Amino acid sequence: MQIAFIGLGNMGAPMAANLAKAGHAVTGFDVAGTAAEGVSSAASAPEAVKGAQVVITMLPNGDILRGVAAEIIPHMQKGAVLLDCSTVDVDSARAVAEQATEAGLMALDAPVSGGIGGASGGTLTFMVGGPDEAFTIAKPLFDIMGQKAVHCGASGNGQAAKICNNMILGVTMIATCEAFSLADKLGLSREAMFDVVSTSSGYSWSMNAYCPAPGVGPTSPADNGYKPGFAADLMLKDLRLSQQAAEAADADTPMGQAATELYRTFVEDEDGKGRDFSAMLPRFEKRHRG
Ligand code: NAD
Repeated sequence: MQIAFIGLGNMGAPMAANLAKAGHAVTGFDVAGTAAEGVSSAASAPEAVKGAQVVITMLPNGDILRGVAAEIIPHMQKGAVLLDCSTVDVDSARAVAEQATEAGLMALDAPVSGGIGGASGGTLTFMVGGPDEAFTIAKPLFDIMGQKAVHCGASGNGQAAKICNNMILGVTMIATCEAFSLADKLGLSREAMFDVVSTSSGYSWSMNAYCPAPGVGPTSPADNGYKPGFAADLMLKDLRLSQQAAEAADADTPMGQAATELYRTFVEDEDGKGRDFSAMLPRFEKRHRG
């Protein structure tokens, strides 16, 4: 397949390289001039998309996605698929899909879970919104870049699934960290805490797979000085998207709201910027009630 890939950053570069390694003809473009292994470089986004059957975007946010979409849609061939894998707001995803459809293209929003390790290992999970026909065309590409693709329904539903998942993740990480901090103060060892909770009803991905306490459970960013992993700044971005969507949909999300405020404080007023999102644990350790 002839594929264009716009946005060769931490995630995009290894995803594009995996497609090239699997034998697809991939042309890439990034404003920062970054490249990916096996991917030929175009001088601009419109040049990259010429003749491509599938155009993949992996960009920082919804405003940038809207800008890039406006730039490339007029240059894409009719019937091609515009496949956005960035994490953006539901409104931007739906607006871009509408614009693409009006221009005779098919659009999918397909944000990912699995981080940089998943991107390079080809083990991402894709949450996909958009028409069946486009999903069928993109499925072999999802199979190369990831281990699972769930078709969640109409345009925007992939982003909806992603922000709901990450709202749960933000809330459970905070709950896990504050419980560890309480356990410390009650004289419980972290090993005992992990052994009990990871096999009891308090278990979660945050505890079992990504334990925020160093030296306990499987290896995680906590064992590497809280170097991200999944940065607290990115968690804040996703929590804000969840609250923006909740506001627009008139949904009551008190825990999501509290998690957003806590990560905002951590990233903007404290030392959370550039640290893994599980560094909430050392934050709680230092604090007292009230
Ligand atoms: P990144 O900042 O490393 O990459 C984004 C790239 O887009 C950059 O290289 C940038 O130069 C490029 N770019 C910006 N504007 C552009 C334009 N107008 N035209 C072409 N290229 C442009 O970010 P990332 O970590 O690769 O994340 C990309 C997306 O994936 C984000 O939406 C993020 O929320 C999401 N995501 C990231 C992770 C993660 O662990 N990093 C996990 C899941 C989802």
